Amino acid sequence: MNLKDKIRIIPDFPEKGIRFKDITTLLKDGEAFRYTIDKLAEEIGNKEFDLIVGPESRGFIIGTPLAYATKKGFVPVRKPGKLPSETIKYEYELEYGSDALEMHKDAIKPGQKVIITDDLLATGGTLLSTVKLIEQLGGEVVGILCLIELTYLNGRELLKGYDVKSLIKYE
Ligand code: IMP
Repeated sequence: MNLKDKIRIIPDFPEKGIRFKDITTLLKDGEAFRYTIDKLAEEIGNKEFDLIVGPESRGFIIGTPLAYATKKGFVPVRKPGKLPSETIKYEYELEYGSDALEMHKDAIKPGQKVIITDDLLATGGTLLSTVKLIEQLGGEVVGILCLIELTYLNGRELLKGYDVKSLIKYE
């Protein structure tokens, strides 16, 4: 199946000049969605790991069915103020200002092996912040899996040293 055909490109969203990769067209196609999750599970192969972590919000859409398929647990990473229990925070710089992501303090035990998933790797900022949260808790990131990679933004460089895989690439 050619998954690229299932993704819709929206020009000038959310700002002029950005060609937004809209995965909702893939998600509503049951066969394509199932194929995507199966392919991501295949990429993991027989790598040993304990948990899947996904950043808000499309990381949940990809991460939770993958956790189910691999019979592992899922840990959400969220924007500040959304998680109800005690959290740790990682702040990162944006072009204008800063943003932050949070994770529950007890979400990962030291030494646990973690795979991170998200829908799309652009600059890598979101995934790197997720890595930092996991490592703050003593977790080990053994893989990063994305549905889409925008190779021209070089996110892979930012995530150097980690095993990054993606199913679809835009060059
Ligand atoms: P990064 O932090 O620059 O790598 O951006 C990745 C994050 O932005 C992911 O969590 C994506 O959900 C979101 N994102 C950026 N561009 C797109 C796009 O074209 N389609 C869907 N999501 C996007």
